Amino acid sequence: MAAANPSARFIAGGTNLLDLMKLQIETPQHLVDVNHLGLDRIEDTPEGGLRIGAMVSNTDLASDPRIRLGYAVLARALLSGASGQLRNKATTAGNLLQRTRCPYFYDITKPCNKRWIGSGCSAIGGFSREHAIVGTSDSCIATHPSDMAVALRLLDAVIETADARGERRAIPIAEFHLLPGNHPEVETVLAPGELITGIVLPPPISGWHGYHKVRDRASYAFALVSVAVIISPDERRFAFGGIAPKPWRVPAAEHQDAVTAVADEVTRGSRTTSQNAFKMPLLRRTLEAMLAEAGA
Ligand code: SF4
Repeated sequence: MAAANPSARFIAGGTNLLDLMKLQIETPQHLVDVNHLGLDRIEDTPEGGLRIGAMVSNTDLASDPRIRLGYAVLARALLSGASGQLRNKATTAGNLLQRTRCPYFYDITKPCNKRWIGSGCSAIGGFSREHAIVGTSDSCIATHPSDMAVALRLLDAVIETADARGERRAIPIAEFHLLPGNHPEVETVLAPGELITGIVLPPPISGWHGYHKVRDRASYAFALVSVAVIISPDERRFAFGGIAPKPWRVPAAEHQDAVTAVADEVTRGSRTTSQNAFKMPLLRRTLEAMLAEAGA
């Protein structure tokens, strides 16, 4: 049904889609309810990891003992997002697909290339305090809003999909979200009618897991900067939210010793505005504080 009708949308928790429909940013001709497909389980994989069904709620995922013990960074990222009520409804797949919270995207009286390609970007030269500092383009400087996706990027999760012909794909999360380039309206590699069925986590990584989110309010606010960290005997991993149009991880940064060198690699090629340049030192200081906590 979804593949046959380009204006159809899958609906699961609806925590973002319904808002977009009320504002007439999304105007689907059909909603295809995917809540009853049996994709609401968390299963062990033969490789020692977990397969998370696409419809597992954020609350159920964060409270699963296997997630809390083996993937603490994911549990912490989930619990820092939205509110308890929203996490009860929001699904794993929907969280990955949520749209930006750029205020101009939600204001249909303002130009926005992501909403209407070719109309312009109101944030460039406008209010840009919350916007991205890396991975942007002349078309769009919006951030990806998900906390969960930052932790999944840190864990090298793989996204499983199925299309209308029954073809299945396994997409590494690093390749799933797209940078805006000249087409900010295209945000993922999903084809029309292609459905996320699950997310696979590799075996747990032992060591210190941390997720720290800096935001304007203590809860129910999106990240200005968020940092996900795993420090294990063999490696250090860093991923970042609130700074880019997709969950941001730079493998070259993970081989640097000094925090300043890590931050320089992470923000290489950055383009800031006078309003969001504060994110550069904020990122470095947040990472510094987390490494100090890990060391302690
Ligand atoms: Fe639209 Fe992106 Fe510009 Fe925001 S930053 S107004 S989402 S084009």
